[in-house]
Amino acid sequence: MKKWIFSILTLSLLSKESFSSTLVNWDHVHHEELSSFLGVPYLKVKGMSLEGFSGASLQKLQSAFSFMEKVINTEEFRSRVINFKNKKGERKFESNRGLSNEEIYEIFMEGREVLQMDTPGEVNLFLKLYDNPMSRVIGYTTSKTNLININWKYFKQFKIHEVAANLTHEWTHKLGFGHTSAKEHDSVPYAIGYIIRDMVLKSMNNPGPIF
Ligand SMILES: [Zn+2]
Repeated sequence: MKKWIFSILTLSLLSKESFSSTLVNWDHVHHEELSSFLGVPYLKVKGMSLEGFSGASLQKLQSAFSFMEKVINTEEFRSRVINFKNKKGERKFESNRGLSNEEIYEIFMEGREVLQMDTPGEVNLFLKLYDNPMSRVIGYTTSKTNLININWKYFKQFKIHEVAANLTHEWTHKLGFGHTSAKEHDSVPYAIGYIIRDMVLKSMNNPGPIF
């Protein structure tokens, strides 16, 4: 019995040893290599409550969710966020809360909304479609709620990649990022929204092989 316990212990020590020496030399691993070794964290897009959407509008929304999920979990998205340059040519976002591009990418992929920190790995979307001809914004939210209001006037004419961009923009507000005006295109909500818009459009035009 004693021998048996000993051999298990030896085996586990040995396997740990060979794991760390053969697979990766931990002392020389940079953070970036480590994350690609461990895999980019997977972020799931979840519709938590979808008020006012039905039929074709619900279908459009769900297509936007799946394209959004497809592109955010790619190496290209990671690279585009990390290598983002503002119009001055600096590798940083405006209104970045003092955070580097790398830190912003990590916060995004963590998926912890300011008001819902306990659901990492998820883009939790609480959406409500509203119809008000006087409203001139595509969507809006406030820092006090997870609810994102979506303007029907724009939503009904938007293509899937534009819906995905708008959802991403609003969701980055839920992560605590803002912009000084609707012209601050290098802010996190706008810039990442544009990245998603371009990547979804590209993905829709190149759907890839169907298995
Ligand atoms: Zn905004």
